[in-house]
Amino acid sequence: MILIAYGTRPEIIKLFPVVNALVERGLPHRTLFTGQHTDLYEDVKDLVPPPDFSFADSFTGEQKHNTLGGSYVKICRAAEALYTRQRFDTVVVQGDTTTAWALSQMAFYNGVRIAHVEAGLRSYDLMNPYPEELNRTLITQIADYNFAPTRRAFEILVRSGARNVHLVGNTIVDAVDYFKKTLRLTTAVTPLVPVTLHRRENHAIIEDLFRELERIATKYRKLKFVLPIHPNPHVRKHRHLLTAANIQVIDPVGYPEMLRMISCAAFLITDSGGIQEEATCFNKKVIIARETTERPEVLEIGLGRIAGRNMEKAIEWACDPPPSLKASPYGDGRAAFRIADILSGEAS
Ligand code: UDP
Repeated sequence: MILIAYGTRPEIIKLFPVVNALVERGLPHRTLFTGQHTDLYEDVKDLVPPPDFSFADSFTGEQKHNTLGGSYVKICRAAEALYTRQRFDTVVVQGDTTTAWALSQMAFYNGVRIAHVEAGLRSYDLMNPYPEELNRTLITQIADYNFAPTRRAFEILVRSGARNVHLVGNTIVDAVDYFKKTLRLTTAVTPLVPVTLHRRENHAIIEDLFRELERIATKYRKLKFVLPIHPNPHVRKHRHLLTAANIQVIDPVGYPEMLRMISCAAFLITDSGGIQEEATCFNKKVIIARETTERPEVLEIGLGRIAGRNMEKAIEWACDPPPSLKASPYGDGRAAFRIADILSGEAS
């Protein structure tokens, strides 16, 4: 029996194609929601069937926003109980969240195989992104299957001695393809600039980033900035800094709506990892409000620029038309089926 585990918005977005592929291949599986993102769960929960198991009750109560250690301890305790109660052959985890690491560690202690989706990403900077660089490096040490999204990640895994490494592509391309088909999304260009800024390592400078955004909006009046603001209070408390008429601050949107915005964007501004990949699926330029990226392919194909907090200096570049691109460097939309086939023993 396979357990597919997720706890945050990006994990659900990147794992729903795997759930669909397991269903299509008729592979027995169960799903688990750890409750790590309670606020954003509602926006994406319909992408997957209702979970068979949930630890969400551990996250309700007086302390809504948990510390890293608090989330880790809650997930470990609940995972230990689940792995003791139910027998799973393999747990599928995605990426580099506290959910992915805690479930992997408890699986290792309980003799459950670990399948790591989107393995091998590295910034080689433990503080950027924090704590994800540590989480994903630790998972690599114990994963029984390592599913690399890119050739670079594949080589990193092989060099680090990881077991059972497979180059499958990133399931984000499968997710985008699914919605391109169902929503008939095509790439268009409008003055819309979707912005997301919320990464933990940016919390200390969110104020600076918002002030910079306000300056940019005031200077580039023809652009329309839309910021689906993250529920994190460290982000929300600076919302009042965004007053320009061409900045719209909205609540987080569902995934189909997010893709709709990306598909017709002038360009994107983000500190998110997933949005750097989605940008390439729609041939959009993306200004990366971070000091580093573990997804350098977006830079190599000319669609990304690392700006840190100096986003303004990248605006002229972003306004120039993007180079023409045929396919995303992150995959071909078949990653989830490759993963399902490898897990079923049908492929090597
Ligand atoms: N996203 C969304 N609605 C929003 C903002 C983002 O569906 O209002 C999606 C976005 O398209 C991407 C994912 O959420 O697929 C990114 O999540 P996040 O920034 O939390 O995590 P990261 O990508 O940094 O892991």
